[in-house]
Amino acid sequence: MDFNLTSEQRMAVESARKMAARDIQPVLDAHDPDTPLPKEAMKGLLQVCAGQGLTSARVPESAGGAGIPTLLFGLMFEQIPPVVAFAIVGQEATAARIALESTPEQRERLLPDLISAKRIACTGSTEPDVGSDARGIKTRVTEDGDDLVVNGDKMWITNASICDVINITGTLGQDDQGRNQIVRVVVDRDQSPFTSSKTPCLGFCQGHLGEVHFDDCRVPKENRLGSVGDAARVLTLTWLANRPLFGLMAVNMAQCALDAALTYAGDRKQFGKAIGNYQLVQELLADIETSIETSRLICYRALAAIDAGERANGLSAQAKRYALAACQRAISMAMEVHGSMGISRELGLEQLFRDVRMLPIPDGTNQILTLIQGRELTGVSAFRH
Ligand SMILES: Cc1cc2nc3c(=O)[nH]c(=O)nc-3n(C[C@H](O)[C@H](O)[C@H](O)COP(=O)(O)OP(=O)(O)OC[C@H]3O[C@@H](n4cnc5c(N)ncnc54)[C@H](O)[C@@H]3O)c2cc1C
Repeated sequence: MDFNLTSEQRMAVESARKMAARDIQPVLDAHDPDTPLPKEAMKGLLQVCAGQGLTSARVPESAGGAGIPTLLFGLMFEQIPPVVAFAIVGQEATAARIALESTPEQRERLLPDLISAKRIACTGSTEPDVGSDARGIKTRVTEDGDDLVVNGDKMWITNASICDVINITGTLGQDDQGRNQIVRVVVDRDQSPFTSSKTPCLGFCQGHLGEVHFDDCRVPKENRLGSVGDAARVLTLTWLANRPLFGLMAVNMAQCALDAALTYAGDRKQFGKAIGNYQLVQELLADIETSIETSRLICYRALAAIDAGERANGLSAQAKRYALAACQRAISMAMEVHGSMGISRELGLEQLFRDVRMLPIPDGTNQILTLIQGRELTGVSAFRH
């Protein structure tokens, strides 16, 4: 076992860190933190990330992608400011899902603009009545001549309000045994217009979490991907790596909070001494660091297991649930180190506190992740009776 990064990994991390500081953070700082970035600005940032393969990490080179091992992807991803990392997940996972089950013609036609981030992509599974139980989706897909006609609503979709392309799951209806016949369809907004809007919420306010509405939206049949019923497998394969990636977004935020707390503990004086001299403040700092270190390791471990072809369902579920809880607590403790300054808008810790709270929900809530881990441990699924 070797806990050191290889020289290739170190160089990639350094390069992602420099890109974030030079090309991403200044753009975020130049815009209002409470308003979604203009589409062109977000697209520009995704294009910067595309330059390092981050918009196509899991798309194999044979399909024009970067084909980066998921651990290396995670190491680089951890360096990216979270609101942009969040948009990368929407973009990159959509490209990876298309690449997983599609024809060579579809890959050639659909992927290049997503890999280069010339067009913004997202994946829509969640609906107003359907969240954790993705098999119950109601968005209706019917065949009509050379077209598919889509009717329904998707909500809580990353990148939705600015997307050019959405990869959706929809149903053709029930089969003879009453099972939902789920299909995957790529809807291109230029070709098949639909409406979308941003959903105002707690965190990632510069991002574009939103809703999409399909009203008799006609989509050419050649945009249907894979085969009936493959959606669960394709989504699960990408969720497995997405979960530790979300954990690493939380690690990035907790690390920023620790850096700020260390500076403050050295500068701020009370009772005649810098507060970092007091054991109870040192305990807060030590607990924050331990949360970051353990979260980082469990996320790297899950990504390495995926690269090694191991069954990673339990590991990936643990990684996300653990890292999110530990990093939420770490950010809160860093706020405590700052006293009242911790809750000030000026310092930005309250933004980390809001942003990190967004992450326990997508790609498996804490309860769903617990049940996945429980199923791995016991061999018994608590989901279905
Ligand atoms: C930041 C963010 C980004 C997102 N991005 C996307 C995206 O790009 N694409 C997309 O399709 N969706 C996306 N989502 C939606 C997300 O995947 C869903 O919100 C999530 O799956 C949960 O669904 P729900 O909100 O309907 O909650 P529900 O499924 O209704 O759950 C409500 C509560 O019940 C609990 N619960 C549900 N079932 C069980 C059970 N069997 N046992 C115990 N407890 C249970 C849940 O854990 C939760 O606490 C995103 C959400 C967020 C917040």
